[in-house]
Amino acid sequence: MSPSSPAASPPEVGVLLPAAGRGERAGSGELKQFRPIGGIPMLLRAIRPFAQHPRVRQIVVALPPDAAARPPAWLTDLVAERLRLVAGGATRADSVAAALAVLDRECRVVLVHDAARPFVTAETIDAVIDVAQSGVGAVAAIRLSDTLKRAHITPPGEEGEGPLTPHPSRSSLPLVETTVDRQGLWRAQTPQGFPRSFLEEAYAARAALPDPTDDAQLVERLGHPIQIVPDRTTNIKVTSPDDFILAEALASQ
Ligand code: C5P
Repeated sequence: MSPSSPAASPPEVGVLLPAAGRGERAGSGELKQFRPIGGIPMLLRAIRPFAQHPRVRQIVVALPPDAAARPPAWLTDLVAERLRLVAGGATRADSVAAALAVLDRECRVVLVHDAARPFVTAETIDAVIDVAQSGVGAVAAIRLSDTLKRAHITPPGEEGEGPLTPHPSRSSLPLVETTVDRQGLWRAQTPQGFPRSFLEEAYAARAALPDPTDDAQLVERLGHPIQIVPDRTTNIKVTSPDDFILAEALASQ
């Protein structure tokens, strides 16, 4: 390894882990991010690949305020110079903003990774860091392989989110409007990585887009370039009870 290679430089990557959701779609009483998958809490699985990464300087985890005040023992054991806990906010973006606000100033590159993705690989992390360190935003993503339909969601209150399980009553099933051309479409995952200045600028201007579902869209709005980093389909987001079945299968590999 040459002395000028990125891995030989002092670590300058900061990682923000929004983990302050209530996980209501997972359908169990306990916090989804603390639920064990293959015997290991989901959040711990999400933290480990970053905690073990030589280019990561600091990790900030945003938790629901009550959990941040009284974190579980397996999490307090990790808290040291390299890992901090903060209270998250009402939305994902509020939680990312709270974590960004306390991140060590030495972190010139920032990765954001959802705690709900416990199977991220070191290869994806490396590729996202490489792009972000070159001065460009990076989004781990999957090229779409399904045929896409736009449909009206009929039950009130579910607009935009859609039923996560097939709806029981036939009369209220969504009605197909059109087929969307999937050419050039990618499903954005995390991690997403940015030069710190991009992310700070994006979050300073976030009032214009109050509830973004990822960080890249805030950075895109400012006109900064963002590259796709093709990711693995095993980097699933664990949201519904079915996802936990998939997650257990992945953990047993
Ligand atoms: O709600 P969604 O599935 O988009 O959540 C993605 C990630 O954002 C999860 O890891 C969740 O814990 C986190 N989140 C957060 N603060 C919120 C809501 C969600 O940190 N207020």
